[in-house]
Amino acid sequence: MTQFSEFTDICIKVESIPGSLEMTDVFADFLKNVDDDELAVSCYMIMGEIFPAWTGKKLGLGPNLLYSALSKAAGISLDKIKALLRETGDVGETTYRALCDDKKSQSTFSSFFVAEDDENEEGNGSACGTKGRLSIREVYDRLKEIADASGKGAQSQKIKSLQFLFAESSPVEAKYISRIALEELRIGIGEGIVRDSIAKAFDVPVNQVEFAFMVTNDLGEVAAASKRGGADALSHQNIQVNRPVKMMLAQVTTSIEAAFAELDEAAVEWKFDGARLQIHKNGDEIELFTRRLENVTNSLPDVVKAVSSAVTAENAVLDGEAVAIDENGNPRPFQDILRRFRRKYDVETTSRDIPIHVNLFDLLYADGVSYIEKPLTERRQRLSDIVKTDAKGISVDELQITKDPEVAADIYQAALAAGHEGIMIKNPTSPYSPGKRGKNWLKKKPVMDTLDLVVIGGEWGSGKRKNKIGSYVLACFDNIKNVYLEIGRVGTGLSDELLDTLTEQFADLIEAEDGVTLKIKPEVVFEIAFEEIQKSPNYPAGYALRFPRLVRVRDDKTIEEIDTIEKIDRMYQGQKE
Ligand code: ATP
Repeated sequence: MTQFSEFTDICIKVESIPGSLEMTDVFADFLKNVDDDELAVSCYMIMGEIFPAWTGKKLGLGPNLLYSALSKAAGISLDKIKALLRETGDVGETTYRALCDDKKSQSTFSSFFVAEDDENEEGNGSACGTKGRLSIREVYDRLKEIADASGKGAQSQKIKSLQFLFAESSPVEAKYISRIALEELRIGIGEGIVRDSIAKAFDVPVNQVEFAFMVTNDLGEVAAASKRGGADALSHQNIQVNRPVKMMLAQVTTSIEAAFAELDEAAVEWKFDGARLQIHKNGDEIELFTRRLENVTNSLPDVVKAVSSAVTAENAVLDGEAVAIDENGNPRPFQDILRRFRRKYDVETTSRDIPIHVNLFDLLYADGVSYIEKPLTERRQRLSDIVKTDAKGISVDELQITKDPEVAADIYQAALAAGHEGIMIKNPTSPYSPGKRGKNWLKKKPVMDTLDLVVIGGEWGSGKRKNKIGSYVLACFDNIKNVYLEIGRVGTGLSDELLDTLTEQFADLIEAEDGVTLKIKPEVVFEIAFEEIQKSPNYPAGYALRFPRLVRVRDDKTIEEIDTIEKIDRMYQGQKE
């Protein structure tokens, strides 16, 4: 067993290191020594996750529940916790201060607590620098208990489990437990550093670790395989039916000509205005996953039926875009497809009201053969072979291979006329690279000035907007400093109906309230249109958006996918030119 205090030490160390190479060294050393049973879990936790993304499992813990548990464990009022939050602006620091003050004053919490050595935590000194009693596994098991709690009594069960964790750990360990529990660890270690650390710790080539990660979508599993059997074990990893992999993504191209300049020949197809769907067929069992790898099978019985009658392969993993259509087969607004994806009740009625057509455009696996390393043309050929052409609700989309940008321009016009977003220009010889955004897939759309930003705050409205969150604070991401940077606010483009929905959606994400001002847990992504990016000293990003307007809530995107300050720098430069 490896103690959770050792994991905490690594977090503290990493937080003080600016460079990713050193972080890799530190985490690789840790991986070499961590107990087998805790290897995978450590890989998830260091990235601020608890379960691998493909499982779709989430802790689902609202900040308020955590504050209640903290208030009980520390024996101080909820109001005091909230005051601390306002002061520190961070749940981890709040946890530390609440428990540390409490430990000094020897209140309720101390009865659970066994201090091994008062001076043994780096930088914490005094009575707060004690060690807890939990192993990494025990922390994970309790967190899993929280995720699994359901039905009557679930809330109090979750509070109890958290209270136990706080009681059995030192204040500094509890600081990191709180951050992990609210998915706010953010110490600067992401998938890239964990991948490199695995390679270094177990002496396996990085590209093999990368490949194994692409097909398993599970760095914990990749770490375990590397330790067990090195490069040989990694080379046996493969795509598995019923385990979603990340989707291949596209880069923007400024013009069709620019895209063709990079390619000898291009595969051109419509960019459908819908939502991504990864389809797994395992005999009669069909599962459907969104771009965020959420399992939406139960919401889409019509798609399950369509796949089952159209796909002739026994086992397959297919990629496509689900589009909500009207009675004439034309695309309906993007929000309609998301309504279908999210629907939990009256699913049959909704599927009649909002029919879906799935446009398949790729194949990752069929009947025992992985296709991801094969060229696009071969994948497409096999895709056409295993999907019937006369099926209802699903078809392989039309793809044209051409050397001529004029042909692509015609396809572009036709796609726009049909109400879709534009075109995709793909490299016909390229493999399928799960989770990668590169030059092998380019997208051309008419509007380029939108950004995907995360909501980090808000303000209660007044007058007609009383009791509703009337405006939202937006942020982009700085992936060097690993922080969210505020870049402005949006209050327009929000109908009353949408304001109601959003206020409800954000209710559980409010982390702190100060008068009308709200601090919101970063989770919801807004696509924001604007006229211009301007330099601005008023926002931490150093930029402001002129006339920002909400285009849509990107429920299909995770916060890892929001736009970065780097991209905004580039857009600003491009705008000047
Ligand atoms: P956008 O906001 O432009 O949709 P995005 O950030 O959501 O972009 P990108 O990966 O940049 O996603 O663009 C590709 C997306 O376009 C895919 O995720 C998919 O949902 C959609 N799409 C529609 N038609 C196709 C197609 N024929 N091939 C690939 N992707 C397609």
